[in-house]
Amino acid sequence: MAPPLKIAKPRNRISSMAGYAPGEQPLRGESVVKLNTNENPYPPSPRVLEVFANVSPDDLRRYPDPAANAFRDAAAKLYGLERDQIIAGNGSDDILNIAIRTYLDAGDILAYPDPTYSLYPVLAGLQDVTVAPVPWEAGWKLPVNALLATGARAIFVAHPNAPSGTPVALEALSDLASRFDGLLLVDEAYAEFAEHSALSLLSVHKNVLISRTLSKSYSLAGVRFGYGLSDPSIISEMMKVKDSYNCDALSILAATAAISDQSYAKGAWEKVKAERTRLTAELVARGWDVISSQANFVLGRPPSGDGAGLYAQLKARGVLVRFFNLPGLTDKLRITVGTPEQTRALLAALDG
Ligand code: PMP
Repeated sequence: MAPPLKIAKPRNRISSMAGYAPGEQPLRGESVVKLNTNENPYPPSPRVLEVFANVSPDDLRRYPDPAANAFRDAAAKLYGLERDQIIAGNGSDDILNIAIRTYLDAGDILAYPDPTYSLYPVLAGLQDVTVAPVPWEAGWKLPVNALLATGARAIFVAHPNAPSGTPVALEALSDLASRFDGLLLVDEAYAEFAEHSALSLLSVHKNVLISRTLSKSYSLAGVRFGYGLSDPSIISEMMKVKDSYNCDALSILAATAAISDQSYAKGAWEKVKAERTRLTAELVARGWDVISSQANFVLGRPPSGDGAGLYAQLKARGVLVRFFNLPGLTDKLRITVGTPEQTRALLAALDG
């Protein structure tokens, strides 16, 4: 008789959690209007494509530079910072994860205004960190006092916020940083589409970490590259925690080429911002309640208030958008800003 099959038991924390649910990725070649994961609808800079065309066998054979210094130097030049103020990551999700693992012990509190990026509680849970979601004040204003009152050791704020697209006032972030003893992470995944950024806080506050990504603003979501900007005291601690080869050789080359071509990237940002205005107006004309967005997506409530139903209807018509089955979001849909052609297809699916 065969011995009984053994089943390995995961940590209780893991077996009882749901895990993060990413937006759907269609198969290669599948034809859909993809407005569900905030990818940039334009291709990356031609310099990035050149990098891939010229990859050498040694680029593949050798381990990558563990510190991604070529990228750090290019980013330092771009932002007027020093190399030791920059850490590279496998997407900005990696930066968020490294920050949690560097600054929070099991049982510590991570606070954030809510609703926001739904990955924060997942990453915190994996480290047995407790989360303290604090409702945004009316008009999506940063609840500074309530965040401070949580007793958190770290606070995450997405600017612009996801999924609302709303900006966070610089004065409020600065006020929070100056009154807080822990790490303040400003998640600027969408900042290139916004009217201001928190970069100026870096020269004033030593406890601020800004995370950025190449996924949206540089059209490189498939490559996975993000980075953190902060005081060297924070970066050096995070360097100890990251996986030694957290960025692969090709992503380092691609990301370095992408941020070195600012004029190309800015052209794409302008097109996305113009289309955001048009998409917002078209939805409002159809009776939607749309929150004014500074990101590359909009969050809106259709007249029916039935987010799930409309999501399914659009999907059946070949248009993917994002529905969040979360408190306060079930009557809304989040729609990525695409090309004018994609907007037309979305509107046709809505009107048809
Ligand atoms: N922060 C926010 C607010 C996001 O919406 C996303 C994208 N899902 C990320 C960070 C992570 O992006 P990436 O890992 O592709 O850099």
